[in-house]
Amino acid sequence: MRQEGFGYTFDSSACAECGGRCCTGESGNIFMKRSEIQAMATYLQMDEQHFAQNYLLKKGYKYTLKEQRVGMSHDCIFYSRDAGGCLVYDVRPQQCRTFPFWDYFKNNMQELRDECPGIVDD
Ligand code: SF4
Ligand code: SF4
Repeated sequence: MRQEGFGYTFDSSACAECGGRCCTGESGNIFMKRSEIQAMATYLQMDEQHFAQNYLLKKGYKYTLKEQRVGMSHDCIFYSRDAGGCLVYDVRPQQCRTFPFWDYFKNNMQELRDECPGIVDD
């Protein structure tokens, strides 16, 4: 998979063996738009307030998904090591859907190569 403006391609077959490195590891933010919060709460059959209390952290004016500590790792609250994947995959937010094609990585290629084994240099 490739995307205009990015100097690499992405081989999604790497995900099967990867262990969800983009959902675990160093602490980070997965920002959620209002519509994404609504969609995820509906998917989990929760009202938004209950969903927010359980799964969101407020950072400034934004909301990010909480993390869970597993050893030294900061796993996304919705990453399941038992299931080997995302528990809300069908309604994962745009930030997750667009990985690894984030503008941030255009100037931070080594960081991306270190994290994602599916990156193939052009
Ligand atoms: S880090 Fe890359 S290879 Fe691993 S699960 Fe995420 S997208 Fe797939
Ligand atoms: S919502 Fe799903 S795809 Fe996104 S970081 Fe969390 S576990 Fe990964």
